[in-house]
Amino acid sequence: MRPVRSLAVLAIVSGLIATVALPAYGAWQNTNPEPLTLQQVALDDAQSLIVASDATQTQLDRNSYAATTQEEIDRRKAAEAAEAAAARARTSASVASVPFDYSMITPGSGTVRWPVGGPFTVTDRFGDRGGAHMGTDMVAAGGTPVYASVDGAVSVSQDSYGAYGVTVVIESILNGQRVRTVYPHMQTGSRQVTVGQTVTAGQTIGLVGSTGRSTANHLHFEVYVDDTAVDSLVWLQANAG
Ligand SMILES: [Zn+2]
Repeated sequence: MRPVRSLAVLAIVSGLIATVALPAYGAWQNTNPEPLTLQQVALDDAQSLIVASDATQTQLDRNSYAATTQEEIDRRKAAEAAEAAAARARTSASVASVPFDYSMITPGSGTVRWPVGGPFTVTDRFGDRGGAHMGTDMVAAGGTPVYASVDGAVSVSQDSYGAYGVTVVIESILNGQRVRTVYPHMQTGSRQVTVGQTVTAGQTIGLVGSTGRSTANHLHFEVYVDDTAVDSLVWLQANAG
């Protein structure tokens, strides 16, 4: 019994790896915009943290100050300050829309666990940015443990998974459905698991970081149920504990 079962599990895991890795890699090189891949979605992820893009903008504008009058400089600075304030307002509005204090959450002991092992703030949610944002951005201190949310098998463990940076992907079966959980932007050198390895819910798989297309320490947590992206925050609220 035991060897047969092991082979069957291996076959399932191999199949999952093939279905996860191949389409995503193919689409990464493909210019056809129709299939929405992890990487394409991640390109948009960098826009979630407005601070860095503002900083870049300020630097660019500063270069042109010398060629303008003091009045123009003042006007431009005022416009930038207004834009920065608006950006902060947008960010805090999205934080304020989250109904409870996530710093109170512990990873729990159930079948499904919260993936961030410490206080975090939810900024951008699933469906933000015109529907392009496929995950939940959980902003936490760099080095905060990242936990596997569900028992499963590791299908991706890479330091450079496209725009996702240091990433682990776990394939699981939960209530008869295939569940894929994605843990991007982790710290370089923090991955604790390898492809094909089985993990248990609550196991540390890496540390919160800001690798890939990211401008601050956060976990961009994605969940797919039977290959369909779902709101990972709603999914956690419904299942984790
Ligand atoms: Zn994100």
